Amino acid sequence: MKHERATEEIRELAALYALGSLTQHEAHSFEIHMREGCSVCEAEFHKFEHIIAGMGFAVDEAAAPDYVKDLLLARIERENRPAMAAAAPQATIPESKATQTKSDTPPAPPLIFSQPAQKQTSILAWALTALFAIAALFMYFTSKSGQDANNQLLADYSAAKSDLDNLKTLLDVQKTRIGELDQILSITGKPGAKVLRLSGQVPAPAAAGAILWDGVEGKFLAFGVLPPEPEGKVYQLWFLSPTAKIRAGLLKLNLTNRFFVSDLIPRDAANATVAGITLEPDNGSQFPTLPFYAVGRIAD
Ligand SMILES: [Zn+2]
Repeated sequence: MKHERATEEIRELAALYALGSLTQHEAHSFEIHMREGCSVCEAEFHKFEHIIAGMGFAVDEAAAPDYVKDLLLARIERENRPAMAAAAPQATIPESKATQTKSDTPPAPPLIFSQPAQKQTSILAWALTALFAIAALFMYFTSKSGQDANNQLLADYSAAKSDLDNLKTLLDVQKTRIGELDQILSITGKPGAKVLRLSGQVPAPAAAGAILWDGVEGKFLAFGVLPPEPEGKVYQLWFLSPTAKIRAGLLKLNLTNRFFVSDLIPRDAANATVAGITLEPDNGSQFPTLPFYAVGRIAD
């Protein structure tokens, strides 16, 4: 007879079989029953076999079957009740009688001495196996859930930390932008300040930017966006007059390929008419390496 679904009885049978705690006869019938193709019983058996095999090891998926403990306890109670009752009147067996059977069977505790030898061994072995299994299951699931809780805490902690790091980064970016905006406003508000637009040239048509030129204070501010610089190269700003090409510092791009530079106008660049950006080797150059990536007119 095949089973339609797992009942408590089937689970108990499968659990006890997996623990090796059925009598030989019971185990044999269960094996035949599974061999005859009861997939329900077989599935239950494999479930318990898996749990028992995994005791004390780290197994990834593990559903803690609370009822295993309950049904084991219930079975111990059930098995012990008749044993205790039968043993009670025999509790005062004389020592000599208790040792009589020593030659053919191992010594058994006096409490269950009156039981038939095979039944005694079976119950004792079963009770020990069950107690061991309960202890092992308990330890396994306790340590497993403790470990899970720890892992969860760690995951929560690192998630919170990464959120905080992201917020800090965002805040730093905002602070930088506010600082940049303050500098832009302070220059553009000054009388005599000029704004020149930087336009992308052939190698970088999408390049764009501006230079705020404060001839009175002798300061300039350059900002914009450029294509990411190749490894080992850096953008350099130049001020060009009809007679000279004047170095005006390196333009380091941030993570969004933007630059923002504030510096003093070089003394000999006071009458420069054009600003230009080139791509130079890592530490910059003495003279611009053509072509220009962006260009803007300082004076009309
Ligand atoms: Zn079955």
